[in-house]
Amino acid sequence: MSYAVEFDEVSRSFGAVRAVDNVSIAIEEGTFFAMLGPSGSGKTTCLRLISGFERPNAGHVRIFGENSENLPPNRRPVNTVFQDYALFPHLNVRDNVAYGLMVQGVDKRSRHGRADEMLSLVKLGDYGDRKPAQLSGGQRQRVALARALVNKPRVLLLDEPLGALDLKLREAMQDELKALQKQLGITFVFVTHDQGEALSMADRVAVFNDGRIVQAGSPEDIYQRPRTRFVADFVGSANVLSPALSQSAGSAKAWHSLRPESMELAKAESGRLAGTVASIRYIGPVKRVTVDLGGDQLTVAVPAERTVPEPGTRVGLNWSDASIHRMEDE
Ligand code: ATP
Repeated sequence: MSYAVEFDEVSRSFGAVRAVDNVSIAIEEGTFFAMLGPSGSGKTTCLRLISGFERPNAGHVRIFGENSENLPPNRRPVNTVFQDYALFPHLNVRDNVAYGLMVQGVDKRSRHGRADEMLSLVKLGDYGDRKPAQLSGGQRQRVALARALVNKPRVLLLDEPLGALDLKLREAMQDELKALQKQLGITFVFVTHDQGEALSMADRVAVFNDGRIVQAGSPEDIYQRPRTRFVADFVGSANVLSPALSQSAGSAKAWHSLRPESMELAKAESGRLAGTVASIRYIGPVKRVTVDLGGDQLTVAVPAERTVPEPGTRVGLNWSDASIHRMEDE
């Protein structure tokens, strides 16, 4: 197996803050890797350790198998796309994209040729002569992407690159980024606090909390089999069952997670658990029915076309043994 980036027990502190706390990861070459976690959990610091703008206090960062300690940022085969794009307002789009090549001393004709190639790649082939101010937010984002790709990095780091876009554009760009990564075959390391974004785009996801990786795996692993309550809560709308509730539903006395779409409503007397419908929310193709169990609440996803009992009705809740997942006691 060939790894683009490896962290070997890496820590980075700023004064008393342990921004990155004993993190080990191995990012396979050619994958789309997402770092997912709340604000302040250490994701950006990890990216900066890869790009070389930060040094570890302990542990090692390897890039394509090479210890990176003595590699300055400009000698790493790595580039970064930032959320705020950081384009030069006075330069046209072509010169913005070509900037890195100009700094390297590439002649004008070659660098413009290469910039135009990158602009076509991000579907902005006709925009080279415009100034950044004459572009939409989504187009500026693509220019930033073209600029980061122009000197052919083997690893592209993306720090919340879609954060400034509206929802619709964001979704379109998610698909495009994924397609672009597959087309180029290079490694993308993508930082986000948006679980939907991480799960829909990445081949592998590392979930961060407090400077540590709490779980790493495929999107399906993370979604279906959260290791801890933090992951279950953060990654989405999983129901978390306390040890007492799990036990009264016939499972072991431990924390469990259970997806709303894995549960069904039943008659009160024939459910594993029984409670009262508290609320019903319509979300596109499903209704989310929240059932109150005398303190604990569980949510069931029901296809929208199905009729569901009114709030206040006693109902039962059922699920298959295979769909409930036991978590660690954290
Ligand atoms: P966000 O999503 O908000 O960017 P993040 O998960 O990327 O958050 P980091 O930016 O890596 O988190 O920050 C992790 C912790 O380290 C935070 O508590 C932050 O305040 C602290 N930190 C990061 N860089 C520095 C610095 N240069 N000096 C002091 N503290 C820092």
